[in-house]
Amino acid sequence: KLILGIETSCDDTAAAVVDESGKVWGEAIHSQTEVHLKTGGIVPPVAQQLHRENIQRIVKEALSTSKISPSELSAIATTVKPGLALSLGVGLSFSLRLVDQLKIPFIPIHHMEAHALTIRLLNKVEFPFLVLLISGGHCLLALVRGVSDFLLLGKSLDIAPGDMLDKVARRLSLIKHPECSTMSGGKAIEHLAKQGNKLHFDIKPPMQRAKNCDFSFTGLQHVTDRIITQKEKEEGIQKGQILSSAAHIAAAVQHTTACHIAKRTHRAILYCKQRDLLPQSNAVLVASGGVASNFYIRKALEIVTNATQCTLLCPPPRLCTDNGIMIAWNGIERLRAGVGILYNTEGIRYEPKCPLGVDISEEVGEAA
Ligand code: ATP
Ligand code: FE
Repeated sequence: KLILGIETSCDDTAAAVVDESGKVWGEAIHSQTEVHLKTGGIVPPVAQQLHRENIQRIVKEALSTSKISPSELSAIATTVKPGLALSLGVGLSFSLRLVDQLKIPFIPIHHMEAHALTIRLLNKVEFPFLVLLISGGHCLLALVRGVSDFLLLGKSLDIAPGDMLDKVARRLSLIKHPECSTMSGGKAIEHLAKQGNKLHFDIKPPMQRAKNCDFSFTGLQHVTDRIITQKEKEEGIQKGQILSSAAHIAAAVQHTTACHIAKRTHRAILYCKQRDLLPQSNAVLVASGGVASNFYIRKALEIVTNATQCTLLCPPPRLCTDNGIMIAWNGIERLRAGVGILYNTEGIRYEPKCPLGVDISEEVGEAA
C-alpha cells in the first residue's frame, strides 16, 4: 500500500510517497525559509501564496520520483492541524480535490503526532515511548502510548526554543554573518557556538524550582537581549552590526537552552518510571523537531538518558524538520491501526490550534 503525504502547515510545501514497510518511494519539498528570513519572520499571506504557487509542482515531483501513477495510491494523508490557518488551507483544499478525483480515502494528520511517530519509520520502537518535540512553533514532552494515544506531560508556557533561538539570531544579525547567512536562526547559533566559549557569559536556566515538566524561553531571550545591548554599548557598535562576542553569546544561550531542555526531560523520565508508564530499563526517548537536530542539545539529552538507563533516538536532521515523509508515514500508521481514515470528507476543516493528546501537565507538577 502506498500513501501520498502532504504538508503545508507552516512554511514548507512538502510531499512524499511512503509504503507500509517505511520505504520512501519519492519525495519533494519547497522551503520558504529564505523568503521569510528576509522579512524577519513568517508573513502568513506570503506563506499562503508560496504554498499555492508550489503545491502542484511539489506533489507532481513526489509522484514522478516515485515512478508510480496516482491511481496506485491507497490514500492521501495531509496535515490539517495545528498550524497557520492560511497555510493549512492550501494543503487541505488541494488534497480534497485530489482524493475526489482519485476516489481514495483521506487521512487527516496532526502535525505534532507525525513528528512524534516519524522514528517508527526508521527504528522498531514499540509503544510506549517518551517524545520530546522541540521546534520553532512547538515545545512539548509527551508519552506516546499508541498511534493516536498521547499523554502531554509538559509544554512551553511561552515561546518555543526554536522561536527563541531565531529571535536571538536575528538580534545578533547573524543573517549578515558570512558563514551563517543562509541558515535558520537555530542552525546559525549552533554553527557560531562552536567558535565561542559557553562560560564567557553566565545565563541561568529558567524554572529551576518548578517541579513540573513545563518549559519557558522568553526569560532566556530577554537576558540574552540585555547582554547583547550591553555588549553593543561596550564595543561601540550599532544595532545590526555583528558583535565580536557573538560566538560567546551563541555558545552561552545554546548551553542554557540545552540544560533547560535536558532537566525538564529528566523530570519527565522519572515521573513516567515512578508510575510505570515507561519500562524501568531500556525505555526510549525520542527527540525530534527542528531544534532536535542541534548536536549540542542531543549531547545534553544523552547525558540524561545514560543516567536513567534510557535509549535516546533522534530521526536524522532532514526528518526532524518539516517534511512530507512523516505525514505519509503517519498515514501508514493510521491505516495499519484502522484509525482516522475518512471515506467521506464532507465537513472536514483545518484547525490552527489543536493540543496534542490528553494534557496531564498539571498532575505532573502536583505529583513531584
Ligand atoms: P513546527 O513548530 O510547526 O513543527 P517549524 O517550522 O518550527 O514548525 P521545524 O522545521 O521542525 O518546524 O523547525 C524549525 C526550527 O528549528 C527553527 O526555529 C530553527 O531555528 C530550528 N533549528 C533548525 N536547526 C537547528 C539547529 N541545528 N539547532 C537549533 N535549532 C535549530
Ligand atoms: Fe514541524
